[in-house]
Amino acid sequence: MMNRIYIVGMGPGREDMMTGEALYALEQADVIIGYTVYLNLLPGRFQNKELLSTPMRQEKERCRMCFEKAGEGKRAALICSGDAGIYGMASLMYEIGKEYPETEIVIVPGITAANSGAAVLGAPINHDFCVISLSDLLTPWDKIEKRLKAAAEGDFAVVLYNPSSHKRKDYLMRACDILLNTVEGERPCGYVENIGREGTKAEVCTLRELRDREVNMFTTVFIGNSGSEIINGKLITKRGYQIERNHE
Ligand code: SAH
Repeated sequence: MMNRIYIVGMGPGREDMMTGEALYALEQADVIIGYTVYLNLLPGRFQNKELLSTPMRQEKERCRMCFEKAGEGKRAALICSGDAGIYGMASLMYEIGKEYPETEIVIVPGITAANSGAAVLGAPINHDFCVISLSDLLTPWDKIEKRLKAAAEGDFAVVLYNPSSHKRKDYLMRACDILLNTVEGERPCGYVENIGREGTKAEVCTLRELRDREVNMFTTVFIGNSGSEIINGKLITKRGYQIERNHE
């Protein structure tokens, strides 16, 4: 029988935002591997399993650890926040997995920050949208800039992941400046901090205001398209329905 590794998207953090399939995969696992922050977010009943972590930025080591544990005959689960296939470890696992042909990889999807954050703000991505990460750790900044320009050009609603970090305090400002070359300053935007975790905070603002907001690495940012609107404090990107008002 093949060894098998489950790569589990745990959603934004709260247990009730994990899928049944994700919880089941973790319940079946002998060993759960992940970044310490995510291991700590796991419900108490998983804390007595073998939990293994490697520090941030040691993603390759974390992947190899999974294959080694699976090779020992253990049921291994790798946890990622949100969805493992969206700025997560799924692709790297397949790449490293070339060296471990006896191990099968199974991906268990999770709710990504784009849709958990969207639910908090209202309906900001209810039409064509794109997702851009502002992290230039693995992507050169000029490519990020090109994608931001293309998103504005295509009038997409935009979701920004990784809008800030300790070393990259001004990236959101830089991204907004690029968008402001073609997008009006009044464009409705919003952002959500700590989605599905303690201290959830949501804000709605204009693109011009967003430029000067300070956000942290646990924040997801939303920029509306040209038809987006704030309705009762919620950020709404419309589908295009014509609504007939009922008059008395
Ligand atoms: N795989 C994850 C994304 C990892 S990249 C997913 O699918 O959601 C890390 C970025 O995701 C963060 O910088 C932030 O922009 C976003 N993010 C992840 N979890 C979040 C949360 N609970 N609240 C707000 N933003 C979050």
